[in-house]
Amino acid sequence: MTTLFCPRCGKDTDIFYDNLCRQCFIGDKKLIECSPVLQARICPTCGSVFSKGKWMKKEDESEAIVECVEAAIKLDKSARNIELTFSPKQLDYSRYSVHIEAKAEIKGVPITAYRDTEVRINWETCDTCSRISGGYFEGIVQIRAVKRLPTKDELERCRSIANDVAASAQEKGDRLAFIAKTEELYEGVDLYVGSIKLGKQICRAVIDVFGGKFSESPKLVGQKNGEDLYRITFALRLPEFVRGDIISADGKVIEVQSCGKHVSGIDLETGKRFIENFNDLLEVKKLSRRQDAVTALLIADEGKTTQVMDPDTYETVTIKRPEFLSVEPGNEIRIVKTAKGIYVLPQ
Ligand SMILES: [Zn+2]
Ligand SMILES: [Zn+2]
Repeated sequence: MTTLFCPRCGKDTDIFYDNLCRQCFIGDKKLIECSPVLQARICPTCGSVFSKGKWMKKEDESEAIVECVEAAIKLDKSARNIELTFSPKQLDYSRYSVHIEAKAEIKGVPITAYRDTEVRINWETCDTCSRISGGYFEGIVQIRAVKRLPTKDELERCRSIANDVAASAQEKGDRLAFIAKTEELYEGVDLYVGSIKLGKQICRAVIDVFGGKFSESPKLVGQKNGEDLYRITFALRLPEFVRGDIISADGKVIEVQSCGKHVSGIDLETGKRFIENFNDLLEVKKLSRRQDAVTALLIADEGKTTQVMDPDTYETVTIKRPEFLSVEPGNEIRIVKTAKGIYVLPQ
């Protein structure tokens, strides 16, 4: 009986990998190769990292560092089922050490390898940040409201929607999706946007939430490389009515809960829910607001009608009983006095 042995180390063995014992075969393989020092280009302002020929948004600096290392390492071509673990550790302001662990199989033999590398950061202002600091913008989104001033809440939400839209577009790689400047004005807010596309996306996202509409008007601002350079003004208009407005529409009196493409609310005469396409409504008019409601005495509840004492004239007024009324006579209720009469508000 012949015993087989490894031609390199002389150890007895039954299984050969490329004519070597398992130990010698593994020793021969360089599962992972990585230069001991790597350079990373990172923007000090926004943290974007320059990788594969372009700037990319990165929230987390150590994530950017790992990405640099990932792009720089070389793995044995015959390796399968590769698992990589990167452990970055910040050394100082501009340096990270990264420990790399690689697990893989080569010809069925599990191999683990470790490498350490140091990443040095070259701080460099990215394309987007240099545009922003240079005052670059392609459009202005003017947020206003129809026949009224936008509320503080609305403007805050619009701005947060705009920021979200910009962030998600940037995440998808749109480097021009930035808001360069925000100007607060008496009549609303102006957002200076890095791209026309972003301006449009912001308008659509705001309208999705609030309703309303927008129009675009281009303005020639000069020439660049022989081509006309336009800036677009987006006139974004929030709808006329907001939550809490008491309006008359289609002969009904509605307390508005939301107003966008649809107006929804409560019919104050019947107490039933109301929802209609805004554009289908005829003769829409604002009558009052919930915040202008006053307290009044409920005198009688007669099933289909109720009697309320007008707090100004002390006269008893009979009105239809809305479904939502749950107060017993002798108690106070909230009413609005409008050009169309007195209406009880839901609690
Ligand atoms: Zn051997
Ligand atoms: Zn930047």
